[in-house]
Amino acid sequence: MADIQINNLVKVYPGSTERANDDVSMTIADGQFMVLLGPSGCGKTTLLRQIAGLELPTSGSIAIGGRDVTYMPVHQRNLSMVFQSYAVFPHRRVRHNIAFPLKTKKLPQAEIDKKVAWAADLLQLTPYLDRFPAQLSGGQRQRVAVARAIVVDADVLLMDEPLSNLDALLRLSFRSELKRIVEQLGTTTVYVTHDQSEALSLGDQVAVMRSGKVSQLAPPLDIYDHP
Ligand code: ADP
Ligand code: ADP
Repeated sequence: MADIQINNLVKVYPGSTERANDDVSMTIADGQFMVLLGPSGCGKTTLLRQIAGLELPTSGSIAIGGRDVTYMPVHQRNLSMVFQSYAVFPHRRVRHNIAFPLKTKKLPQAEIDKKVAWAADLLQLTPYLDRFPAQLSGGQRQRVAVARAIVVDADVLLMDEPLSNLDALLRLSFRSELKRIVEQLGTTTVYVTHDQSEALSLGDQVAVMRSGKVSQLAPPLDIYDHP
C-alpha cells in the first residue's frame, strides 16, 4: 500500500498546444479510493496514464509511497491496471489469464495456484477456471480482468471505466462487488469514470475534472455542483 502525491502536473501531447492536464495537484492517501470524474476529453485518462507511467508528464511530478516515480518505467511502479475493454487473452483459459502477472514474477507454481484460487474465489470465478474467455459472459470476462489485477500485491490499483462495457444491470451489481473487494484489499485505488452515480457510490474522494484541471476535490457527499 502507498499514498500518491501529484504535484503541478502538466501534460501537453506532442503536436498539440492544449494542456490535457493543466496544473493538477492532489494527494491520494494510503488505501483511499479516488475517483476521477468528468466529461469525455477533460483529461482523466491522461492523468491515470501518467500515474501508470504509460505517458510522461510535460512538467510536474508524481510520487508513490514517497518515491519519485515521475520518470520511472511502468514495471518498476508496482501497480495493477484494469481497462475499459477487458484485456483478457482469448486463447488462454481463465486460470492462465489470472496467473499471468504472477508468471512474469517467476513465482513457484504452488504459490501461483494458491493465489489464483484466492482471486478466483473472491471474484466468484472458481467454477470457470478452465474455460476460455469466449465461454464467459461480459461480466465474467471483466471479473477475470479484475482478478488478474488483484492477484499481485500491487501498491496501487488503476481502473479506467472498468464497468462501461457491461449492461446496466451487471454494471450495478459489479459496482457494489468492486467496492467490497477493494475495501477488503485496502489498496490505494484511482478509478476513472464519466458516470456520476458510479463516482459518488464508489469514491472515498471524488476529483471532478474540467478542461484538464481539477475543479473540485471532496468526499462524495460534498460534491454538490454535479458535473
Ligand atoms: P478523458 O479521459 O477525460 O476522456 P483524455 O485524457 O483522454 O480525457 O483526453 C484529454 C485531452 O487530451 C483531449 O483533448 C484528448 O483529445 C487529448 N488526447 C488524449 N490522448 C491523446 C493523444 N494520445 N494524443 C493527442 N491528444 C490526446
Ligand atoms: P491455457 O490452457 O489457458 O493455456 P495453461 O495450460 O497455460 O492454460 O495453464 C495455465 C496455468 O494453470 C499453468 O500454470 C498450469 O500449470 C495451471 N493449470 C492448468 N490446469 C490446471 C489444473 N487442472 N489444476 C491446477 N493447475 C492447472
